[in-house]
Amino acid sequence: MSVLIVADVKNGEVKKSSLEAAQYGAKVAAAIGGEAVALTLNATNGEVLGTVGVNKVLNVTDASISASDPQKVVAAVVAAANQVGAKVVVFAHDSTGKAVAPRLSAKSGAGLVTNVTSLPDTSNGFVVSKNVFSGKAHAQVNILSDEKIVSILPNAFGVQAGDGSASVEAFSVDVSGINSGITVKEVKGGSGDVVPLPEAELVVSAGRGLKGPENWGMIEEMAGILGATTACSRPVADIGWRPHHEHVGQTGVAIRPNLYIAVGISGAIQHLAGVNGSKVIVVINKDPEAPFFKAADYGVVGDAFEVVPRLNEAFRKFKAANG
Ligand SMILES: Cc1cc2nc3c(=O)[nH]c(=O)nc-3n(C[C@H](O)[C@H](O)[C@H](O)COP(=O)(O)OP(=O)(O)OC[C@H]3O[C@@H](n4cnc5c(N)ncnc54)[C@H](O)[C@@H]3O)c2cc1C
Repeated sequence: MSVLIVADVKNGEVKKSSLEAAQYGAKVAAAIGGEAVALTLNATNGEVLGTVGVNKVLNVTDASISASDPQKVVAAVVAAANQVGAKVVVFAHDSTGKAVAPRLSAKSGAGLVTNVTSLPDTSNGFVVSKNVFSGKAHAQVNILSDEKIVSILPNAFGVQAGDGSASVEAFSVDVSGINSGITVKEVKGGSGDVVPLPEAELVVSAGRGLKGPENWGMIEEMAGILGATTACSRPVADIGWRPHHEHVGQTGVAIRPNLYIAVGISGAIQHLAGVNGSKVIVVINKDPEAPFFKAADYGVVGDAFEVVPRLNEAFRKFKAANG
């Protein structure tokens, strides 16, 4: 009996959201008295999974299997799960988890709960919590099937890495018979230092209050000083002021950073749905009646074009003084 964690990689390195899922899987393994085994595709640093409690890593080195081709990934997961006798399969609820976990559930008949925010209560079944109604409520779900699948809400647990190291074994899976109809020609935007929004701990976001795309310099400057990822409200992406992958909210990316700074965003319910899991929310808006202030931990009533440059100056001085 073991727990299999499907750990996604970026540029060969295990992603932070997968470390979080692996840490979760290791805790589940300890609770059910089994081994924590991770599956990686073309990873170069699989041993890092040992820092969060994984015992063993099965690494597939086959360039024809990519996270962009979920049917092949499912085949690899099924083969690995069979080999290690996995009772529980854990994913991060990222793009790979979203594409692969439901397919795996349909193929195997194992019950799936997505966006999980708690460790399972195994005293009477396998009960996990998940966010529902855009984070306004929590549901407790008991997975009744013998085999179980969960995907973990990014940033719901954080990563507390130790100094362990996992053994890494080569694992081969034959996907030659799978014709998924997908050919990955090029992967763009896979490099750089910017943390993707779902994993970001610091996010600076702006909305229609900025008046036009030419005014985003001060937002990017703030993000640069803080080491934050930039985001935006939906209309801003719809009008083309910012790229769509920055749009957060009910119909965009859902985020749970430690700090969310919202500039010139009204705080409509659809926007809040994607950001209300943030630990600290700072709102800068010139309208004291803006609904966002009700959800804010800190609020600045003022013109963004005056407040943001002054804040940037203060952040810069603070950084210079404190290293
Ligand atoms: C089905 C559906 C799904 C949706 N999904 C999403 C979603 O996922 N994400 C999302 O964001 N929206 C979503 N929306 C849209 C949402 O309802 C709001 O229309 C949108 O969030 C408003 O964007 P905004 O706050 O940037 O713009 P506005 O509502 O126009 O607000 C601009 C704000 O900027 C302030 N402001 C203006 N000038 C300044 C200044 N100089 N300094 C400081 N503040 C200033 C104003 O006081 C105002 O509060 C959805 C809507 C629907 C119907």
